Formats: sequence, structure tokens, C-alpha cells
Amino acid sequence: MDRRDFIKTGAIAAAATAAAGCGFGAGRDLGNGKSPVAYKPSGKARLRLSWEPYELKLRHTFTVSGSSRTSTPDVQVKLEYDGFTGYGEASMPPYLGHTVESVCAFLQKLDLGQFNDPFRLEEIMDYVCGKAGKLPDGNLSDAPARAAVDIALHDLYGKLLGQPLWRIWGLDPGKAPLTTFTIGIDTPEVMRAKTLEAADRFKILKVKVGRPDDKEMIGAVRSVSSLPIAVDANQGWTDRQQALDEIFWLKDNGVVMVEQPLPKDRPDDSAWLTEHSPLPIFGDESVQALEDVRRARGVFDGVNIKLMKCGGLMEARKMMTYARAEGLKVMLGCMTETSCGISAVSQISPGVDFADLDGNLLIGNDPFEGVTVEDGRITLKDAPGLGLKDPSQDRG
Ligand code: MG
Repeated sequence: MDRRDFIKTGAIAAAATAAAGCGFGAGRDLGNGKSPVAYKPSGKARLRLSWEPYELKLRHTFTVSGSSRTSTPDVQVKLEYDGFTGYGEASMPPYLGHTVESVCAFLQKLDLGQFNDPFRLEEIMDYVCGKAGKLPDGNLSDAPARAAVDIALHDLYGKLLGQPLWRIWGLDPGKAPLTTFTIGIDTPEVMRAKTLEAADRFKILKVKVGRPDDKEMIGAVRSVSSLPIAVDANQGWTDRQQALDEIFWLKDNGVVMVEQPLPKDRPDDSAWLTEHSPLPIFGDESVQALEDVRRARGVFDGVNIKLMKCGGLMEARKMMTYARAEGLKVMLGCMTETSCGISAVSQISPGVDFADLDGNLLIGNDPFEGVTVEDGRITLKDAPGLGLKDPSQDRG
């Protein structure tokens, strides 16, 4: 056999191998007796969006630097297609300026019935984002409403493919992170009791600081637990040198990270603090969406990504990729949300540096079952989409 014949024979053999064992396409034998069965959009079905307001009842009064509350307004969303249903939600902590009315008004503007292929995630979300306005900081408006549609669309996408999103995205659920559990600000006695209650189930605690009695609150937690503590000042400190002094004290008391110590409109002071701090500093209020990750470089050590801030999983995944490319750490956070929103963000949690995904544990009327916390760790379900137990299954 000369060289030309050798190449020709080799090419024929390779083509035969591809046809028999490595070819693509639904229904083709993979060589092991199994054929992939992929869902194909019918072409006739249309996306159908519906929503209803749902008030989240908090188990305990929730206090952050500046306010207290006992419930959080929320809008639950359903996206139906060809007999499948994706679930989403918009959660609106009052201090962020979104309301049930503003979310419903945004959803009312959408005509998703024009789409007959739910796999076109980019096209559909481009349309949804096109209905939002531009905010002065360069980010899009109506993030919670956009997140609701994005979450429902991704849930639907996973259900149509018959796989959890973490698997579709090639992630290892065994690398899902520990989640912090927030010990709400209260009297030292109540905080000690809450800490003891949480200490068996969680490996890292979170305390809201940024008030004059910070050291007393940390001391109350520390008096009954040696677990690591994450703190969140919610922009509550104003003097950068005082913030730095307090961070050194916090480090000596087992605190491992600090979230948003200074007001978001003072990036130069945040950069100075990050440079001098013995603990990693994460931006939260300063980092709403992708534009802000660009601005976070040199200002923070890491960014706190939340679906309700950025508008959903599609934007959150872009933020994670960009942050890592810039050498920033990534944490995932949440608002007070049901297991729908928490299960959604948990899909991208494997491998992040910190997770603060306890929002569903803080409410008493969660309509879903989804991710759980086992031995302090986010535990993803091996079930399609977000892995939620469909609430309609409980109706008989
Ligand atoms: Mg925060």
C-alpha cells in the first residue's frame, strides 16, 4: 500500500467509525445499543407566561443596617410550553425600590407567546431585556421581573432536556459550597439562642454588622460558637480607618470575610480598605450586574452575585466567568426567596468561594421543595431543571 492508498483507507475507516459509533443526531445508534432521545420543540406550541403575587412570611423579624421587617413581597411566575411548566420568582425586599406593581407591570409588557422554541434562551432573554430601561449606572432596570422570567425559562429548559441545570452545564454537585446562615440582629440573649439553634446544621455563620453595637453582637455569637463568621456591613460603616480597625478586631474574633463595608458610591475608599484589609472584602450593593464586575477590579477582592440584582442565571453566569477572568473571588447570595429562587442560583454554586443561600430557610410559607442543606452544604437534587418538587403535585 503506497502512502496515498494508506491515507485513503484510513479516511474510509474513520468515516465508518464515525457512522457506527460517534455520529451525532437523535435516534442514531451510539454503538452501545443506546440512542439519544432529544426533545424537539413541536413548532406549534407557544410559550405562555402567567404570574401571581405571593407574600413571603418571615420566621423572625429581619433587621439589617437601617430597617426591620416581617414579610417580603414576591411574585411567582409560571412559564408553560407543550405540557411542561417552568417556575420562576421575583423577590422584592422593600429597600431596593421594586414593588409587586412594578414587577407585574413589567411582566404585562411581555408577549412571550410569539416564541415557539424555548431552547432559544438568548433570543428570548434579549427580547425580555429589551423591554427594560437603562439605569444611570449602566445596568438594566427591572432586575427581579427579568430574573423571574429567566429562572422559569431555565427551569423549563432543563425539564425539556430531562436533566438538572448543573449537569447540563457540566458542574459537579459534590463541589457545591457550604452556605452561611444569617443570625439576625437581636438582643444578645436571642442571638445566642439563634446561634445555638443553627450551630448543629451549619458550618459557617453570618452576622449583619454596621451598627454601633457590632462587637457586642459578634461577642454574643462567639460566646456560644467557634464556627467561622462572615459579616455584612450593608454599607453601614462610613470611616475607612475605623472600618479597617474593626476588620482587624473581627479577624481576631474568627471572622473570615467582610461584605460591603462602605457606601457603594465610595469606590476609592473601598479600594483602599481592600488593599489594607487582612480579610477578603466582597462587593454586594456595589455589584448589581455585569457592568459592575468590570468596575470591581481593584476595588474588591470578590463580588456577591444575586439573581434578583442581575436579572437571572444567564447574566449571573456571565458575571461569574468575567469575575474569574479578572481574578476576583465569587460568592453567591440571595434575597428572601422561596426554594424556587434558591434552587435556581444553587445550580451554578459548585466551586464558588462563598455562598449565602439561606433565603428560603428564613420563610415559613415556602411553596416548593428544592435544594436542601445537608451538614451545612448546599445539596443539589438530581432532577430536571431546578430540581423542584412541582407544587401542583400536592393538589391531588
Ligand atoms: Mg450583602
